[in-house]
Amino acid sequence: MDSSLRVLAVDVGASKLRIAIFHGLDLVYRAIIDTPRNGGPYAVANAIIRYARDYRFDVASIASIGPLDLVRGWVTGTPNNPLRDFALRDPIYKSFNVPVYIANDCVASVWGEYILGNGRGLNDIVYVTISTGIGVGAIVDGHLLVGRRGNSHEAGHIVLDLNSSLKCGCGGLGHWEALAGGSNISKLAKLKALESTYTSKGREIALSGGMSSEILYRLAREGDVFALNLVDYLNRVHAAGLASLIAVYDPEAIFIGGSIYIYNEDLIAPGIMKYIREYSLLEPPPIRRATFDQDSGLYGALAIALKTPQEIARYTRYSEGDD
Ligand SMILES: [Zn+2]
Repeated sequence: MDSSLRVLAVDVGASKLRIAIFHGLDLVYRAIIDTPRNGGPYAVANAIIRYARDYRFDVASIASIGPLDLVRGWVTGTPNNPLRDFALRDPIYKSFNVPVYIANDCVASVWGEYILGNGRGLNDIVYVTISTGIGVGAIVDGHLLVGRRGNSHEAGHIVLDLNSSLKCGCGGLGHWEALAGGSNISKLAKLKALESTYTSKGREIALSGGMSSEILYRLAREGDVFALNLVDYLNRVHAAGLASLIAVYDPEAIFIGGSIYIYNEDLIAPGIMKYIREYSLLEPPPIRRATFDQDSGLYGALAIALKTPQEIARYTRYSEGDD
């Protein structure tokens, strides 16, 4: 690991864009802004360039929402930003003329756990984000899973309910992200409210279409019966999703981050533990909070720059003739 490197680390989230400069492991500068949602395919890259251009760095590393096309360095058809398709790698490379790494945000996050976080010393780990969307990154037998174009584990889109009418941002039905991603919470809440009969403040808000994750967990803490039931349902969905990941990857530990989980771990973690065995083939491994909380993507990007996995290196932009 090269701890003398100056690194521009970026986390392109569905709602927030985090831009940081590290000198080795030391955070020198950080900005958090809203991720551009209009302005064309270069709006996100231009925002990064604007914030980074006053700083000196040797390498840039970007963690981003997917799906990705790592060959081109673009985000392609993302359900979580109305831009849908936008360029990341090459505009950054052209502006700063430094190597530019790019990876899915959860892929970066799991690498961050593996190299810098509490996943150090383990060989098989999974990172899950519970946020606007549901995302997954995995290291199996010490190898970072990446896939053909960088999307080998878009596991937020595994089907958890064959009978669900809830449509995911990607268009699919019954996906983990459709059932339990933050972006779909008002639709889910309304559906559940129409199915229930008791009166509660939570149900009224849900019927009006105004439910959000923030309101939901606050009402659950206040004891609202509708909110408590919905949180219980969501925990069951997360347990089923995690059990599916355990069956696929056989991890030694699962790390969970993402704003919904980080802010509401007290209500989510016990619910997951309550239900996960109902869905699991294998004994569930320890489930732990993400080491870097909301900065998992940033530290993941940093980890990729400091110790670059070969699975990502092959997609890196190094020099002008590189296409
Ligand atoms: Zn989906």
